Amino acid sequence: MATVPADTPLRSNRFPIPDRMRAWVLGDPEELSLVEKPVPQPGPAEVLVRVDAIAVCATDIEIIRHGVPAMIDGGLPFNRGFTPGHEYMGTIVKLGPTVDEFQIGDRVTVEVHAGCGRCQRCREGMYTSCLNYGFRAKGHRANGFSTDGGFAEYAVNSINTLAHIPDEMTDAEATLIVTAGTAMYGLDVMGGVIAGEGVVVIGPGPIGLMGVGVAKALGAQPVILTGTRDKRLDMGMRLGADAVVNVSREDPVDAVQRLTSGKGVHYVLECSGAPNALNEAARMVNRGGRICLAAFPGEPVPVDLAYLVRNNIYVFGIRGEGKSATHRAAALMAQKRFDAKLIHTHTFPLGEVPTAIRYARERIEDAIKVVVQIREH
Ligand SMILES: [Zn+2]
Ligand SMILES: [Zn+2]
Repeated sequence: MATVPADTPLRSNRFPIPDRMRAWVLGDPEELSLVEKPVPQPGPAEVLVRVDAIAVCATDIEIIRHGVPAMIDGGLPFNRGFTPGHEYMGTIVKLGPTVDEFQIGDRVTVEVHAGCGRCQRCREGMYTSCLNYGFRAKGHRANGFSTDGGFAEYAVNSINTLAHIPDEMTDAEATLIVTAGTAMYGLDVMGGVIAGEGVVVIGPGPIGLMGVGVAKALGAQPVILTGTRDKRLDMGMRLGADAVVNVSREDPVDAVQRLTSGKGVHYVLECSGAPNALNEAARMVNRGGRICLAAFPGEPVPVDLAYLVRNNIYVFGIRGEGKSATHRAAALMAQKRFDAKLIHTHTFPLGEVPTAIRYARERIEDAIKVVVQIREH
């Protein structure tokens, strides 16, 4: 048998790879154009992913409009040939040199951040808080933020950002794993949900809804979801919430106290970004309780710090999906512990990315996750 030199990428005739591909690139703010680009080449510890489907995230809309939080070599991502999009899944079609952790043909979903792998935070597993964030020359990779993302036919991914998905999981559902991974990371940083403890999730956006599913799958009891829109709260019930509270009809703190017989809960996962959410969360947890902020208000807000200190309440903030939380979320979804595909609403083809983004923006009230299906099956 002929041996393949260790520095040669591996490909297969099963998946013919063109030299060039279609990809959306960001010009000026709000200006996306479909161009032809060379298909990127995977390096060591990387693979080439044929992108099969990608979800539109609120952060993509933010990046396309304002640039941040995407950052390339210390600057904004405009007019740099940058391809956005970070919530994608696909099929591995080429292996970088030395890669034996995955096979050609594997279906995978991706998490966003590979980090740089060399800074202290990356070494601690906090690669979403990489100290070299955005500096590609130092090895930082966060596809759709600092390196090319998935609104394209192909993308290169570090093997550390990949999770296998079962055959029976649809492409659209698989794009939601990274969202569930973010919710999972929030629960992780609070110390990990212990079965039987109460969790309140504030805000039924995609991360909040996935937070309900993950918390319930981990055995939390009760799981209470608060928000303003009945349609989304109803979805929360279908994802496993024990109770939902419409805050336009009932004070959420009173409701949580009522639902827990005045005891409060151990954990609050704050996913709304509402200005008073932290103050309300503080009154939902019991003494010594823990709050994780996964969303933030647009401007500084007053916080009752004395209440937090007097009651020994811990407050955490997360960015993204660190410590391989995406792998744990993928495992729960592969076991069908909650039905993530409930929150996916509408599908568009690759040629209609701007329409998909406009749809996601305009229908943000009830359309939760819009998916671009790049390849039909
Ligand atoms: Zn996202
Ligand atoms: Zn780093």
